[in-house]
Amino acid sequence: MTDRKAQLAANLAQVEERIVSSCVAAGRKREEVTLIVVTKTYPASDVRILHELGVRHVAENRDQDAAPKATACADLSLTWHFVGQLQTNKVRSVTGYADVVQSVDRAKLVTALSAAAVRGERELGCLIQVALDAESGERGERGGVAPDGVEELAAAIGEAPGLRLDGLMTVAPLAGEYAGRQRAAFDRLMEISSRLRAGHPAANMVSAGMSGDLEDAVAAGATHVRVGTAVLGVRPRLG
Ligand SMILES: *Cc1c(COP(=O)(O)O)cnc(C)c1O
Repeated sequence: MTDRKAQLAANLAQVEERIVSSCVAAGRKREEVTLIVVTKTYPASDVRILHELGVRHVAENRDQDAAPKATACADLSLTWHFVGQLQTNKVRSVTGYADVVQSVDRAKLVTALSAAAVRGERELGCLIQVALDAESGERGERGGVAPDGVEELAAAIGEAPGLRLDGLMTVAPLAGEYAGRQRAAFDRLMEISSRLRAGHPAANMVSAGMSGDLEDAVAAGATHVRVGTAVLGVRPRLG
């Protein structure tokens, strides 16, 4: 085993242990939580090692980095999640490799993703990114729609050819009433998810929790956690 593989294996084992303990504490089954490894800023060779170690879900946040990486790993059976703020001029590229876009936060993006999915003859999973700290009608600093905008976006995705509404995603806010209160933030996301599922029963994915707060996300009921640093190490640059 190479040094890098041994390091990633050890880190993955630690993250797995944290997920298992959180599931036990919450009375949940381990299978209810999917680990997505956020590979942004790390090379395709790491993605390859992660695949060898059993990882099947990876996430990226910048198309410039993700597109070549996905191409280099096209032979691997991986589900690619796009989790970054997405400009409409990148949609066509992202639709070429992403299976799920977790950062859908405006109607214009829905239209663009739908057109690209139809053109590419694919079905694209969509999560609505919720900005828990955004005021009504506004978007979050790091993307996301205010909670009261979820229903309208859900309807748009539900009607858009080529798109499949899979659920919700959030990043715990750094400011506002939820700053430093991850558990409360994720509980709020679960409430919004319950309301969404009443009208869209298949939209049952809840993507929440990162390296620092995955326990809170599992406790609240998240189905997917997105972990970067705890698996790959501290990123060499901001991403
Ligand atoms: C980078 C990133 C993560 C992973 O964050 P870590 O703290 O490194 O685990 C999760 N979600 C999104 C949207 C990200 O951009």
